[in-house]
Formats: sequence, C-alpha cells, structure tokens
Amino acid sequence: EDRLSLARANARLRVSFEFFPPATTTMRDSLWRAITRLAPMRPTFVSVTYGAGGSTRERTHETVHRIRRETDLEPAAHLTCVDTSAGEIRDIAARYWDEGIRHIVALRGDPPEGGASFRRHPDGYGSAVELVAGLKKVADFEISVAAYPEIHPEARSSLADIDFLKAKIDVGASRAITQFFFDPDCYFRFLDRALARGIEVPIVPGILPVSNFQKVAEFAGRCGASVPAWLAHLFEGLDGDPATRQLVAAMVAAEQIRRLQAGGISDFHFYTLNRADLVYAICHALGLRTATQEDDVREAC
Ligand code: FAD
Repeated sequence: EDRLSLARANARLRVSFEFFPPATTTMRDSLWRAITRLAPMRPTFVSVTYGAGGSTRERTHETVHRIRRETDLEPAAHLTCVDTSAGEIRDIAARYWDEGIRHIVALRGDPPEGGASFRRHPDGYGSAVELVAGLKKVADFEISVAAYPEIHPEARSSLADIDFLKAKIDVGASRAITQFFFDPDCYFRFLDRALARGIEVPIVPGILPVSNFQKVAEFAGRCGASVPAWLAHLFEGLDGDPATRQLVAAMVAAEQIRRLQAGGISDFHFYTLNRADLVYAICHALGLRTATQEDDVREAC
C-alpha cells in the first residue's frame, strides 16, 4: 500500500520533452528512438524546435506531423517571427490547425548568425506578443511562450521583462516555459515577481541535463543564463570520461528538480537534445513510472 500511495504521489510529477528536428537520416532514427523511449513517461506534450532564422521550417513541420500521425503524444510546434511575413505565419499556423496540431510554442526568435540582433520582417511581427496575438486570430491554439528567470539579454530591466511576459499572457498564451537555469532560488524569485505582476499561468521550469559542460557553458553565455562555479567544479577533469559525466549530470538535474518540487513545482520541461537515456534516468529517479511499471507495483502489492 505504501508503495502504491508513493506511486500515486509521484503521479503529480508531470513532464514535457523538447526535441530538435533532425538534419540527416541517422539523426532522424536517433530522434525517433528517443521519442519511443520517452513516450511511456506520458509527457503532457512534446515540442519540436524551429531552427534559428526559421532554418528548419519544413523539418520542424515534418517532425511535428509525424509525432501526431504515429504516436499518442501531443505535439507542440515551435514557431518564430524571424524572416517571415505575418501572412506566411498565418499559412503555417492554418496548416498546423488543419492537421490537428493544437499547441504552438510562440517565440520571437533570433537571427541565424550569432551576434546579430533581431530585425522585424517588413510585413512581419516584431515580438512574441504580436506573434501570439496573430496566432490567436488564426485559431484557438494552446500557446506556450518563453520566460527568462535570469532576464532576457535584450530586456531593459527585470520588470520590463516581466511586463513582456504579462503581455504575452494577456494576448492568449496559457503557459510559459523558462530558459534553462541552475539555481532554484533564482527561479523562485522570478515566480514571485511574476505573481506580483498578476501572472497566474504555469511557469514551467526548463531543465537542461548537462551532458556536455563546455557546450552548455558556451550556450549559457549567449542566452544570459549563469553557470555557477559549483557546476563547473563538478565537471572538472571529466572531459574524457563520458560515463561519469552522465552520472553527474543525472545527479545534478535530479537534485535541482527535487528542490523545485519541495517549493511546490510539479511540471518540468526537459531540453532532451534528442537523447533519451539521461532524461529517462532522471524521470525514473524522481519517481515517474511508465504504465507497465505501475502495473508491476500494483501486482506486487
Ligand atoms: P519576446 O518575448 O518577444 O522578447 C524577449 C524579451 O526581450 C522580452 O521579454 C523583452 O524583455 C525583450 N524585448 C524584446 N523586444 C523588445 C522591445 N521591442 N522593447 C523592449 N524589450 C524587448 N529560438 C528559436 O529560434 N527557435 C526555437 O524553437 C526556440 N525555442 C525556445 C524555447 C524556449 C522555452 C525558450 C526559453 C527560448 C527559445 N528560443 C527559440 C529562443 C528565443 O527565440 C530567444 O530567446 C529570443 O531572443 C526571444 O524570443 P521571445 O519569444 O522570448 O521574445
């Protein structure tokens, strides 16, 4: 019985998974293996990113569409405003809606070359706020948007950043997903600021398991996320030791999630980088069970 009630308590843990569209046949096979392995975790949704500058438009579409056709998962398509007119956005969104895709992760996006700043398409949207409003005119999509516990690099202030998030909610977004972060306190302070501004939709923490510390550190530098010294210390000397790196990565993410759970958070969005093993292990360690594993527990009781 104890084990059964523990299993029920763990049912409150809800996850979603983010994938990127594959560029080659080999990558497509490994993405599909990852989706198949993670599907039994019954994610709330699985999202597919949209390459910088809209570079993966067709591949994103194909991947989202295949998830819809071949699995029971709810796919969410990322969509950005970069280099796209409002009319093109309308066409892309209408096609998604016609194919039964109901969930869009709406982003302003960044230009493809690193360093350059975002420029509005002459007939396009200038921010995620405008994109969300435009999408809602096409159909009643479920819309998730981005949020930045450590503040977006272009934000004038943390309050201005929260105002932007509030505006995205006010025009129709019903969930925010955060940029990755490693300090739970920073996330909780962000939640406090959002609540104080009257934001009541879920702000789901984005969890990035650190399988390659150097890459994460580089990426964090570009998107304004900080990398604590203790994290660098944990990965010191492990460059040639991928097996230990995986174990440390699982431990770090599980500990981060436990601290967030202790603060009342039950939904988590994983940046999977199209790899399943680490995310699967983290979810399992946190108590998430597949339907088959739950049946096994029931039989044993
Ligand atoms: P917005 O919400 O429009 O703006 C972000 C912030 O910038 C605002 O909060 C505000 O502080 C500031 N800002 C913007 N415009 C102005 C202005 N005119 N005046 C004052 N302040 C301003 N990128 C991709 O290319 N493809 C993806 O699939 C993708 N997926 C993502 C998923 C998640 C969960 C996250 C967190 C990010 C993702 N990104 C993706 C990155 C995102 O496109 C960039 O962070 C981009 O720079 C901002 O997008 P946004 O939707 O947050 O923009």
